Amino acid sequence: MPYSYEAPVSQTLFERAAVVTPGGVNSPVRAFRAVGGTPRFMVSATGPYLTDADGREYVDLVCSWGPMILGHAHPEVIASVQAAVARGTSFGTPGEGEVALAEEIVARVEPVEQVRLVSSGTEATMSAIRLARGFTGRAKVIKFAGCYHGHVDALLAAAGSGVATFGLPDTPGVTGAQAGDTIVLPYNDLEAVHEAFHAYPGEIACVITEASPGNMGVVPPRPGFNEGLKQACAKNGALFISDEVMTGFRVSKAGWYGVDGVKPDLMTFGKVMGGGFPAAAFGGRADVMAHLAPAGPVYQAGTLSGNPVATAAGLAQLRLLDDAAYERVDAVSAEISGLVTAALTKEGVAHRLQTAGNMFSVFFTDREVTDYELAKRQQSFRYTAFFHSMLAQGVYLPPSAFESWFVSTAHDSVAIERIAAALPAAARAAAEATEEQK
Ligand code: PLP
Repeated sequence: MPYSYEAPVSQTLFERAAVVTPGGVNSPVRAFRAVGGTPRFMVSATGPYLTDADGREYVDLVCSWGPMILGHAHPEVIASVQAAVARGTSFGTPGEGEVALAEEIVARVEPVEQVRLVSSGTEATMSAIRLARGFTGRAKVIKFAGCYHGHVDALLAAAGSGVATFGLPDTPGVTGAQAGDTIVLPYNDLEAVHEAFHAYPGEIACVITEASPGNMGVVPPRPGFNEGLKQACAKNGALFISDEVMTGFRVSKAGWYGVDGVKPDLMTFGKVMGGGFPAAAFGGRADVMAHLAPAGPVYQAGTLSGNPVATAAGLAQLRLLDDAAYERVDAVSAEISGLVTAALTKEGVAHRLQTAGNMFSVFFTDREVTDYELAKRQQSFRYTAFFHSMLAQGVYLPPSAFESWFVSTAHDSVAIERIAAALPAAARAAAEATEEQK
């Protein structure tokens, strides 16, 4: 084992977990399967740092996969949560916090005239698709290979990148019927979208895309791609759904919409808007949202939707995210990504640093990555070596080469200095890595 440095308490916890939980984790990528080794069980987090069960501290470049944009345990967010908890943790009735969070979202994101709160990004995209189907009376959905929209049955079909390929289920348990109305197309390929609309006239309910994908690594839309999707949808009577679960309130005050200004019919949100709690949302055109129960016939519900603690956390976080906060996150991102690319360049490691606002990731390849096929062609064994070297030196990166890195306002010069100090050895490890090591 090339990565056998010690994490004995995490290892023991992982073994305990594996007895009672499949694979020892509650979400697959946490299990380190892509990089090998023992997943670190964290016991606390503050600012830009995570502390594991063995007492080791890491600079965190995952930020809970996006939500912790102010760093961990931000005092004002914690105070709002504590105040909310003291008032009761769930009412099962409407409450003012939900109204305030919905108002905040509507105020920030101009295409969102009305919004419904849910508890996860998966629920948000699932509900948005149902609403689009209910609104249009059509069945088919276009999605793009490499875009992840949560574990919605119909959206787990990512196989087949040919033009207008009917989706094949990517996982057992998703039936052909569930995935059969999903058309999977190569990302950034407008021609394929036009052909699909041509092949299925009057059948396509919506196109769903990550506003700027971060789930195959960071692969931003080509100039004009989102606008082209919007126009193709408008021309063909389909809805354009922009999934901003990852980018929403992270890359700007108004998410990716704030960057490219392309107006979707529906949008989905999660992560940052929950402040580290399970809160998510979908919203958009009022005439479309009016089809949602109880205003309209498309059913959608949730026992914990708009939970008072989650909404308090989300609202506190969003209210702290002013222009200065985004400037700070952008600057931190530029500095860290610059250090990473400099270290890899110094060691002669072929790589592409790709960015979408303050999200970035590194592909170990010498050519630009514009879709999932190209993303998969990278030398991910180099990432494995890089990841483990950073981990051993106290820097926590995403445990997969196909994920975005996330930073926060809390990444100060001390944290950045720790990253800078770890990079030369990690870059050397990436340079020296061989495929067999994996
Ligand atoms: N959509 C996107 C773009 C995501 O990145 C994710 C999760 O990573 C989801 C949807 C699903 O969100 P959740 O994990 O909260 O169900």
